[in-house]
Amino acid sequence: MMPVKKETGYIHGHEDKERHYGSLVPPIYQSSTFTFPDAESGEARFAGNEGGYMYSRLGNPTVREFEERMAKAEGGEKALAFASGMAAVSAVLTSLLKSGDHVLVSKGVYGCTFGLLSWLYDRFQVRAAYISMENEADLEEHLQPTTKVIYVETPINPTMKMTDFSLITKFAKEHNLTVVVDNTFASPYLQRPLERNADVVVHSATKYLGGHGDVIAGVAVGNFDFMEVVRKNAQKDMGGVLGSFESWLLLRGMKTLAVRMDRHCSNAKVIAGKLKNHPQVESIFFPGDPDFNQYYLAKKQMDQPGAMISFTVKGGKEAAFNMMNRLKMIAIAVSLGDAETLVQHPASMTHAVIPEAEREFMEIGDNMLRLSVGLEHHEDIWRDLEQALTGE
Ligand SMILES: *Cc1c(COP(=O)(O)O)cnc(C)c1O
Repeated sequence: MMPVKKETGYIHGHEDKERHYGSLVPPIYQSSTFTFPDAESGEARFAGNEGGYMYSRLGNPTVREFEERMAKAEGGEKALAFASGMAAVSAVLTSLLKSGDHVLVSKGVYGCTFGLLSWLYDRFQVRAAYISMENEADLEEHLQPTTKVIYVETPINPTMKMTDFSLITKFAKEHNLTVVVDNTFASPYLQRPLERNADVVVHSATKYLGGHGDVIAGVAVGNFDFMEVVRKNAQKDMGGVLGSFESWLLLRGMKTLAVRMDRHCSNAKVIAGKLKNHPQVESIFFPGDPDFNQYYLAKKQMDQPGAMISFTVKGGKEAAFNMMNRLKMIAIAVSLGDAETLVQHPASMTHAVIPEAEREFMEIGDNMLRLSVGLEHHEDIWRDLEQALTGE
C-alpha cells in the first residue's frame, strides 16, 4: 500500500521485500564493494544493463533507501545524497554552470555558498549577482545573456526574508533559467519548492532532516535526466558521496520529521510572541509574526512558518553578548534544527565573513541574535531566555 499522507511517507518506504531476517529497520550496508555472481554479471552491471550494486561510491542500498525517501518527501523524481550540504550545493552548481555563466543569487545566501561562488568566479569566471528578488524589475535589471540559474534560499538566514516562488519560476520559465532552492530552513514538511515549479532542491540534511545534531549530510532532488548528470559527473567522479551509517541516521531522523517539526513550530510561535513583548527586545524577524512584512507570503507557500527566529536586543553588541552568556540551558552554537535550542550571533559567527557595510545593508546588526527553537518544553525555553534578557 502506497502512503497517501506525507507523515506516513517519512516512515514507510522500505523497498527491500526480503526484510533481512524480518528486521523492521533496514540494515546498514557497511560494505565498500559488492560481489558479482559471475563475470558476465559484473560486465552487465558496469554496462548499465543489469541492476544491482558494484561499489559504494556508485551506489549503496542504505544510501539509496534514504535517497528514495527524500525524492518522495520533496515530490521529485530522483534524489542523491552527499557527504554534506555543501557537497550537494557544489555538485548541483558545477553540474549546471560552465565557465563564463552567470547566476542570480538571493542576497544573503549561506556563507559557504557565497564562498563557493567566489571560488567558481576566481577559477572559472562564473559570475553571480546577489539580489533581493523582491519583484520582477529586480530580476530583469540583473538578467544577462549568460544567466543560467536562479539560486534561492527561502526563508533566508538570519533575516527570514522570503522569495515568492510564483515570481521567480515564472521569470525563469520566460528566460529559460534553472531554479535551484536551498530548502534547509523549512524542510520538506513545511515547504516543497518542486511542487511550486522549482527545478532542483538542495538541503543541508545536517539540520532538520537529521534533526539530532549527530550527522553532517546533504541531499539534492530533481528530475531524472538532470540528477543522472549530477550522479555521473559530480557524484561518481568528484566523489562527495554519503556513507551508509549517515544515511541510516537520516532515515531514522526522517521518521520523526513531522512530529518534530510540529513541536518546533508550536514552540517557536509561543517564543516569538513572548520575545516580541519583552521590553529588552527591539524587534523580531519571524515569518509567523502577523507584523512581519512577508507574513502573507509565508502563509501562501509554507505549511507553517518554521522555527527559526531572529531578534535584536536593546543595548547593542554588548547587551547581545551578555544575554548569550547568561543563558543556562540554551547552547551557544551555530547549526539548527536540533532537539536542543541553539542561539548564535550572526554578525560575529555565521555572517562574520561579510564586510560590515554589506552586513548593515542586509540588516544584520551587531545586536541581532538567531534562535533555533528546539524541542524542550516552551516554558523552560522561555524561562531561560527571560532570565538572560532581564539579567537578574
Ligand atoms: C548548514 C547549511 C548549509 C551547509 O550544509 P552543511 O551540511 O553544513 O555542509 C547550506 N545551506 C544552509 C541554508 C545551511 O543552513
